Amino acid sequence: MSTWQTLLAAALVITFVIEVVADVLNLRALAPEAPRDFRDLYDADGYRRMQAYTRERTRFGWIGSAVRLALLLGFWLLGGFGALDRWTRGLGWPEVPTGLVFIGALVIAQAILRLPFSWYATFVIEEKYGFNRSTARTFWTDVATGTGVAIVLGGPLLAAILWLFASAGPSAWLWCWAVVTAWTIGVQYVAPTWIMPLFNRFTSLPDGELRDALLAFAARNGFPLAGVWVIDGSKRSTKANAFFTGFGARKRIALFDTLLATLARAEVLAVVAHEIGHYKRRHVQWGLAIAILHTGVLFFVLSLVLETPAVFAMFAIDRPSVHAGLVIFTILMTPIELPLSLAMNALSRRHEYEADRFAVETVGSGRDLASGLRRLSADTLANLTPHPWYVALHHSHPPVVERVRALEGRR
Ligand SMILES: [Zn+2]
Repeated sequence: MSTWQTLLAAALVITFVIEVVADVLNLRALAPEAPRDFRDLYDADGYRRMQAYTRERTRFGWIGSAVRLALLLGFWLLGGFGALDRWTRGLGWPEVPTGLVFIGALVIAQAILRLPFSWYATFVIEEKYGFNRSTARTFWTDVATGTGVAIVLGGPLLAAILWLFASAGPSAWLWCWAVVTAWTIGVQYVAPTWIMPLFNRFTSLPDGELRDALLAFAARNGFPLAGVWVIDGSKRSTKANAFFTGFGARKRIALFDTLLATLARAEVLAVVAHEIGHYKRRHVQWGLAIAILHTGVLFFVLSLVLETPAVFAMFAIDRPSVHAGLVIFTILMTPIELPLSLAMNALSRRHEYEADRFAVETVGSGRDLASGLRRLSADTLANLTPHPWYVALHHSHPPVVERVRALEGRR
């Protein structure tokens, strides 16, 4: 192994170890009893179930990450990338189709590898704790639909990136940045009407007190709400959620049928108030701006990687190409993205508190949101005592105990 290979392999292993250490600390932080002000949420038996669920998911996660890391290191250090590159070149096709086959082969291999893990997570672990509502048919339909959407939407984008880097010269990264930004915004624009209905059924929330209350709340707070939809989340899981889709004056909110089944009307309104808070406090706009900036930086760094033959040599690839560079780049970025995700998670947690405060100010009190969050966390067997390092690494939302205490003005 060359020095650079050793360094990269070490960085990948260290990234893995950091995750496992955070997991171990998290498991050790599981307390024998719920925090005193949350005792009403779980009975002793329910609290033990939460602990067992957290342990089982964590340990299963280790198996998945260890297998992925071992296969990546094995494939790389045994010369797999070089061999795949020679095979695709042997087809004698032009540069862009050759690149699509090279990347496509790796993406497909990765997707097939992931299947047994997501099957086990759904039909064994989630099933055991009573969350799973998915059938084998739904599972395979999702796989087929997801693959179709990825090919139709991702294929042309990838071809465009390969083509631009091969022919647009030194400004290729700028062109790619513009194309990917336009593509991202375009996909978000068509997702509610063309893509999401492929996976779920959306129905308009029937007229009634809840609908009136939501529309009145939005109007009172100067928020253009074009529609309130119910989505059949119960098709896959008992876990509940809510989200916004659409732009400008065409924003709609989608409420999971499981959310409506779990929460009282005032609690649903408080959850929607929180979601509106993300728009009103400009979190959504910030998120988009950061994502666009991130894309630009990534393409600039990619353009540097493509100019560095030593990087290709590390992967036993004799003829540098855009497609091989793109794959190598994603591997190089794995350790670098870790500190970046720490910062993004910290920002996201701050935004959650701000959206909660918006809900408190507009609804008049934090009581309903707090009781809604309590109920949802008990229903999903949420860990009430996550370790701070685990929170820093993985939580885009503050731990529910801290959020509820802040909402109830006890923090
Ligand atoms: Zn939020």
